[in-house]
Amino acid sequence: MNLESQENHEGFLVVSLDSSLPDLCIWVFCYKSNMKIRSLPALLLSILSGGLAFAQQTPQTIADTELPSLLTIYKDIHSHPELSWHEKRTSALIAKELRAASCEVTENFGKYDNPNLKGYGVIGIMKNGDGPTVLVRTDMDALPVEEETRWSYASKVVTQNDEGKDVHVAHACGHDAHMAAFVGTARALAKLKNQWRGTIMFVAQPAEETGNGARALFKAGLYTRFGKPSLALGYHDNAQMQTGHIGVTEGYTYANVDSVNITVRGVGGHGAYPHKTKDPIVLSAEIINALQTIASRENNPIDPVVVTVGSIHGGTKHNIIPDEVKMQLTVRTYKSDVRDRVLAAIDRIAKGCAMAAGIPPERAPIVDVLKDQFTPATYNNPELTRRLVAVWKNLLGQNNVEATDPTMGGEDFSEYSLPDHSIPACDFWIGAVDPVKIAESKKSGTTLPSLHSSKFAPVPEPTIRVGIIGMTSAVVELMKK
Ligand SMILES: [Zn+2]
Ligand SMILES: [Zn+2]
Repeated sequence: MNLESQENHEGFLVVSLDSSLPDLCIWVFCYKSNMKIRSLPALLLSILSGGLAFAQQTPQTIADTELPSLLTIYKDIHSHPELSWHEKRTSALIAKELRAASCEVTENFGKYDNPNLKGYGVIGIMKNGDGPTVLVRTDMDALPVEEETRWSYASKVVTQNDEGKDVHVAHACGHDAHMAAFVGTARALAKLKNQWRGTIMFVAQPAEETGNGARALFKAGLYTRFGKPSLALGYHDNAQMQTGHIGVTEGYTYANVDSVNITVRGVGGHGAYPHKTKDPIVLSAEIINALQTIASRENNPIDPVVVTVGSIHGGTKHNIIPDEVKMQLTVRTYKSDVRDRVLAAIDRIAKGCAMAAGIPPERAPIVDVLKDQFTPATYNNPELTRRLVAVWKNLLGQNNVEATDPTMGGEDFSEYSLPDHSIPACDFWIGAVDPVKIAESKKSGTTLPSLHSSKFAPVPEPTIRVGIIGMTSAVVELMKK
């Protein structure tokens, strides 16, 4: 029999008792600060008498214990995805789980601008004496995508979308993994109440993909009804990062997202007599090109800006010059003053080009910034982020926490920190990809399936596990006794 011990990267003493008797092989995980092993007989006695009960529970031990049941929940949610605004079954399941984890639960929370839509938000309040309030957020909605993974639990769901069209539905953005880790985090924090104090506000948010779910919760009075948190935390799985890793960006991590409609109006007529018309198609082409000079010529290159014309529609036939052209733009920025300048420039350029084309003032383009579709930039409070990075590096190992680049994508998690970022927040990444696949993709030069891809197939166990460890340890750090 030999006795080996070593400290693993999660800070545990791993002791292996390898007996010459083939059936007697015992692995014991002991929390290093609590257990000193002096002799083998003492250890065996300790095991036999149930002496491990005094070993302190940690996010890791709880994650390991809860994983089998969370995996069942994950597969259930994965094979029953629901589109944004329709998260009825999913939210009921989350409400049940939060209740079982000792939260006071409010269901069907949220109010959309459209009165025909029902809010399926779930708020779970876990109280543990006086202390700060920390918000922990998951999203719940799936996407109109036909899943093409090989998982046995792949979604086969087809439903009608809001236009009455049949669409496939899948959790192609991994919100199912967020939910499984969210339930695991609630269970873990209920068991770790001796390590933290205060109130945890668990928020299961509907309609992240449509960008109006968080706003619906605020419209129903999220912070007036449940109190304003002192901090807000969220996470998202990452389709390019390996499992076992956490990634995070200090400062801006997601962009302001604005949707802008432009109606370019001209004077229509016969395609053979352009001199009798004011052609809105040629004018639209000029506007599109001129819009690209906002980022390249008007903006400080240090400040990221994207202006994309994603849709343009005008005309019906070869030989008719139409009366108008409609364009749809997505506009991405970080800083709010840059946002204001870019939106003003879009308006000025559209109208200026029309003036140059001789369009009369009463037919000037209509530039409409869709206020109800705005998603503010997500800003990871640098001080908070650095504090959490230190905790994660300690738990997961230095090399398993990555400094990730910011993106021009959008996330309505930003709503929880308020428009002026006055509630410090951090939204971090959880690696979801098999490291073997990352190595293969680097070698072959083929790209990995991105989020929203029909082929996105996160590896559930390690992704959910690190989600629980990352979120639970963050909350305990911020609320510790
Ligand atoms: Zn998504
Ligand atoms: Zn997502």
